[in-house]
Amino acid sequence: MAFENLTERLQAAMSKLRRKGKVTEADITEMMREIRLALLEADVNLQVVKQFTKQVRERALGAEVLESLSPAQQIVKIVDEELTKTLGSETVGIVKSPKIPTVIMMAGLQGAGKTTFAGKLANHLIKTEKARPLMIAGDVYRPAAIDQLKVLGQQLDVPVFDMGTDVSPVEIVRQGMALAREKKNDYVLIDTAGRLHIDEALMDELKQIKEVAQPNEILLVVDAMTGQDAVNVAQSFNEQLGITGVIITKLDGDTRGGAALSIRSVTGAPIKFIGSGEKLTDLEVFHPDRMSSRILGMGDMLTLIEKAQQDYDEKKAEELARKMKENSFDFNDFIEQMDQVMNMGPLEDLVKMIPGMNQMPGIENLKVDPKDIARKKAIVQSMTKAEREDPTLLNPSRRRRIAAGSGNSVVEVNRFIKQFKESQKMMQQMSKGSMPAGMDQMFG
Ligand code: GDP
Repeated sequence: MAFENLTERLQAAMSKLRRKGKVTEADITEMMREIRLALLEADVNLQVVKQFTKQVRERALGAEVLESLSPAQQIVKIVDEELTKTLGSETVGIVKSPKIPTVIMMAGLQGAGKTTFAGKLANHLIKTEKARPLMIAGDVYRPAAIDQLKVLGQQLDVPVFDMGTDVSPVEIVRQGMALAREKKNDYVLIDTAGRLHIDEALMDELKQIKEVAQPNEILLVVDAMTGQDAVNVAQSFNEQLGITGVIITKLDGDTRGGAALSIRSVTGAPIKFIGSGEKLTDLEVFHPDRMSSRILGMGDMLTLIEKAQQDYDEKKAEELARKMKENSFDFNDFIEQMDQVMNMGPLEDLVKMIPGMNQMPGIENLKVDPKDIARKKAIVQSMTKAEREDPTLLNPSRRRRIAAGSGNSVVEVNRFIKQFKESQKMMQQMSKGSMPAGMDQMFG
């Protein structure tokens, strides 16, 4: 899978700050050096790397490090935001024509995946908006391309217009367009010929097709495996033909990801889709923010951090930190914590934002019952002040009294006390600076 190496390297660079209470300029400089190397090794365009590291560095040094969060989390947030910007910020879909048909022309070098993408896009449009596309087979130089498109058309039940290989592509497109208007197809997808390299003949032909078809979209298909070549190709096509979007194919392969990270900045054209396999369904709408999260290996941890920033009470957090240090975390704190976490929204939703958690078996069944929380509160409220502050007082007769007072069984009271002791232990571990097993990954 693409980006694996990059993800590891970026995480390593940022995780060094994880255990620091305060970061210095030297720490940031060191981290930026590692991020820069990681990006260069991933084959990201040099200008893009320079710009990106400059932005992150400026923000990292200027950032107010909030008291409730570790500096490392702030840095992750900055890197993520800048990465999202580099990838294009907004999700840009297919721009439709006000009148049917919306005409989409594919362009790109041979083998980039144009024909495959035409099929994938037809499938996507059918699935998402019940479209009735017509595909035009304009690649007359690679005879197999026409058959390939016809096979895709049969699989999808989409008509394919072709005139064999003896007619000029411009004429094929002209007649295909006429047919689409007659049949009232809502989309026309034009597959064009590629070459091994960009040459004048190719560009002339594409310009003529553009003239005849007046496309709403000219989508350039590039192969992620070709790295910086893909970026150069995109730049040339954009200068000579004008493209409205880029499709990056083969991101499922073992690529370093440099093309995906550079193309938007270099060409200004948005990435609209990515190809993630050979099957018709292996197409993903490109979302810069989600791609950034993915590159950083974070699931949707950022929403969680933002929520924590929004909802967490600073003063109470400080108080809690003090208690953890002094090992005086008691039942009152436990209840307060529970209330605070509940304020952040349904716990099951929060848990899913933690990377890796949404793939955990059984996560769908995880439900936090507000009644359960209320029951626990009732147990604490049935304790005396002394008991709340010192759980060791809770002998069997006191537990029976608390059970009766709170309307719970003794078994439930025992279970709750056990749970409390476990979280007390966890707090102690955390205050000593070591994360409890498993939680370490959550704050990468
Ligand atoms: P064209 O010459 O630009 O029309 O390229 P094709 O559509 O014929 O694709 C060239 C090869 O790349 C074919 O073997 C496709 O199956 C393969 N291919 C296209 N897109 C993807 C993709 O996203 N992932 C993978 N793994 N293979 C792809």
